Amino acid sequence: MSYFPERPDQNLHAFAFSHLSAERSRMPQKPLVIWMTGISASGKSTIADALDMALQARGRLTCIIDGDSVRSGLCRDLGFTDSDRDENIRRVAEVARLMLDAGLVVIVALISPSAASRHYARAIIGNEHFVEVHVDAPLETAEKRDPKGLYKKARLGLIKHFTGIDSDYDVPIFPEVHVDTQTLSVEQSVATILDWVARNDECT
Ligand code: ADP
Repeated sequence: MSYFPERPDQNLHAFAFSHLSAERSRMPQKPLVIWMTGISASGKSTIADALDMALQARGRLTCIIDGDSVRSGLCRDLGFTDSDRDENIRRVAEVARLMLDAGLVVIVALISPSAASRHYARAIIGNEHFVEVHVDAPLETAEKRDPKGLYKKARLGLIKHFTGIDSDYDVPIFPEVHVDTQTLSVEQSVATILDWVARNDECT
């Protein structure tokens, strides 16, 4: 039973492309989706950027999918209601899976507030290739940082459904990696994630 309704089209038959399974095992890097979840201003984009640089320095082919970028393109028709957020996450997960099939290490930086939709993203991508990273910071810290002035607007009621203010964030219970950006520097968070990748990457 999936979280999102299946498309009721009986005439779709996905072709079993042979490269998807046969070649993946011979790739020089283990394709991964590093899915960063956390409230706004917790540090997802900042850490994604530094992690991207660090992975490229290690010869990895990478791609970042950032929440704000997809919302101005792929998902620009979506708002911030629960169902639109779920659809946003579904689309990102499907794109990440295509990039995974191309052999990339995909870094997703997306609030992804609901545990159910993160679970669904994991199901789309496949547990073996999905690394959930909780980029964690207390709400007060994130609100003090407020690099885009969004918390201020949300407190004034100018933005509705803002995670942490008038919309819930389901704290991940068993993420593969947890980084507390109140106590860790950006470099320390990146090192923590790289350490997990190194311990779980047979190509390292
Ligand atoms: P998000 O993508 O989660 O909304 P951003 O990365 O856009 O968050 O913003 C986080 C802000 O917090 C940036 O301005 C960043 O410089 C700042 N910051 C301060 N300390 C840290 C830290 N230890 N880790 C990550 N970001 C930090």
